[in-house]
Amino acid sequence: MSATTKETLGFQAEVKQLLQLMIHSLYSNKDIFLRELISNASDAADKLRFEGLSDSALYENDPELKIRIAFDREARTLTISDNGIGMSRQEVIEHIGTIAKSGTREFFSQLSGDQKKDAALIGQFGVGFYSAFIVADRVTLTTRRAGLTAEHGVRWESEGAGDYTLETVEKPGRGTEIVLHLREGEDEFLSDWKIKSVIRTYSDHITLPIVMKKSEWKDGVETPTDEDETVNKASALWARAKKDVTDDEYNEFYKHVAHDFEPPLAWSHNRVEGKQEYISLLYVPSHAPFDLYDREKRHGIKLYVRRVFIMDDAEQLMPQYLRFVRGVIDSADLPLNVSREILQSSRDIDAIKASSVKKVLGLLEDLAENQPEKYVEFWNAFGRVLKEGPGEDFANKEKIAGLLRFASTHTDTDAQVVSLKDYIGRMKEGQTAIYYITADSFAAAQHSPHLEIFRKKGIEVLLLSDRVDEWLTGNLHEFDGKPLKSVAKGGLDLGELEDEAEKTAQKEAEDNLKPLVERIKTTLGERVKDVRVTHRLTDSPACLVTGEGDMSANLERLLKAAGQAAPTVKPTLEINPAHALVTRLNSETDEDRFADWANLLFEQALLAEGGQLDNPASFVRRLNGLLAMLPS
Ligand code: ADP
Repeated sequence: MSATTKETLGFQAEVKQLLQLMIHSLYSNKDIFLRELISNASDAADKLRFEGLSDSALYENDPELKIRIAFDREARTLTISDNGIGMSRQEVIEHIGTIAKSGTREFFSQLSGDQKKDAALIGQFGVGFYSAFIVADRVTLTTRRAGLTAEHGVRWESEGAGDYTLETVEKPGRGTEIVLHLREGEDEFLSDWKIKSVIRTYSDHITLPIVMKKSEWKDGVETPTDEDETVNKASALWARAKKDVTDDEYNEFYKHVAHDFEPPLAWSHNRVEGKQEYISLLYVPSHAPFDLYDREKRHGIKLYVRRVFIMDDAEQLMPQYLRFVRGVIDSADLPLNVSREILQSSRDIDAIKASSVKKVLGLLEDLAENQPEKYVEFWNAFGRVLKEGPGEDFANKEKIAGLLRFASTHTDTDAQVVSLKDYIGRMKEGQTAIYYITADSFAAAQHSPHLEIFRKKGIEVLLLSDRVDEWLTGNLHEFDGKPLKSVAKGGLDLGELEDEAEKTAQKEAEDNLKPLVERIKTTLGERVKDVRVTHRLTDSPACLVTGEGDMSANLERLLKAAGQAAPTVKPTLEINPAHALVTRLNSETDEDRFADWANLLFEQALLAEGGQLDNPASFVRRLNGLLAMLPS
């Protein structure tokens, strides 16, 4: 197809759905379309400034970057134009008309049809350009990429239904112009006063000037004059003194940098002087983005050098476990031509990163201490990500550990609200370790036979059932000098938590059952590493434990389920000397029946901790055989 003909292209199915949903669910908040379009224009100017650093020809003798807003009451149009980087034909097709974000399909599958819930989800997804269709029934976007000649302009037009048209046009000035043909009833946006008030509410923080024609009142109507007027403050918000920035301004700036609809949970604004000079404005969002766990997704913050935008998603400035943090770092010292590669090996960047991480952790500590309800909100959104921290950031391990929250037998609910400090405060006299159990579900952790003795003695155990918990416990071995200990690993040594009488009784039971233990061991053979008498059980006949240094059974299952190689760790079978089944087994003289009992004991212990039987059919056969022996 020749470049000059007009072609009609279909929207990606998801875009159609998004448009429909957005128009309905965001209507009550329709002013935000202007914020979104201005935000895009501002990003486009940032990109031009950055590319202009190495190629000043891109400025095309038009160096004053600005956003212009105009309306035409007669034509009922509102026009937003910028002289930023613009788009090539290919870029228009890629960016406007398709949603290139990974995870789009998963996102759409979450939509419920319930407008309220969906509106919140839409906010998470970020709607950007498409929000124009909330107030417009036709949108015409004309753009030309900086550096291309005038005849490389592209016009995109759509009514926001199923398709859009594209044609090549002359566009002398670089950048993008968006004309909104307003829907019936949206005339309020044809008012100077209305537009200015929306800009001041949502876009005051935009660093480049937003310009409008000054208007005057003539015969009772506002009429634009020829004089230009800058509507916003047009200074970098982060460069202003804290006392000069209102909470509303911080909130709106966040929405711009984070492409988020919801206000942030908290922020930290700092001007750092000394060896490194920079300003940071770091935000903790109030909810997780839909692609928080997408490894491909870039994360991090916007990097500026002396107010010049350098790059988005500078992941070198935030570690993975703080990938939810959004905001800006503006360095006074880095060279303007700094690249991602340079960032990777820059000591200056390492220093900025280290101190920014401290700021974020400090902000979280402050939230936890002074605004506990907000911290709960934070934890529910990002707790699982923060749990990656102790494995990634050794220098701050203890600090991060102090921020972690867990479910525990103290509350016995799945709410993760217990800190390690709380736990230590409740430790029993003579207790030296912080006990935990890992399992693949909260219910499995909560009902694990391993907890029986702990429950009986009133010793608290942390109940860990997030996938990341195995990684966490693999990396976090102590807190405040107290070791973290799995209740399902190694022999149980409760030390001073047991009295002499209990210890003597255990020793006696062990001696008495020695022959039984040997018999079970011989019978189970390769299925177990060892068999021993335990005192950790009160109600269950048996349980499985792994060695102190071995991989936990839960982790082994997680890895295998994910198709990864994991060694098969042989468990130790522990039996409860006080249980009727064990007593029964001890007096069994029929060798075949003994073997059935012993295997059943092992298999039910495996099931109880969420394991899978190699051969379920033989388990069922054994069980039925024994059930059939019951007197009728
Ligand atoms: P987002 O801004 O969240 O990426 P949008 O739908 O608002 O999503 O915009 C999609 C993309 O279209 C932008 O990332 C950008 O590449 C491009 N774009 C939008 N508006 C402009 C503009 N005014 N100038 C240049 N490119 C733009």
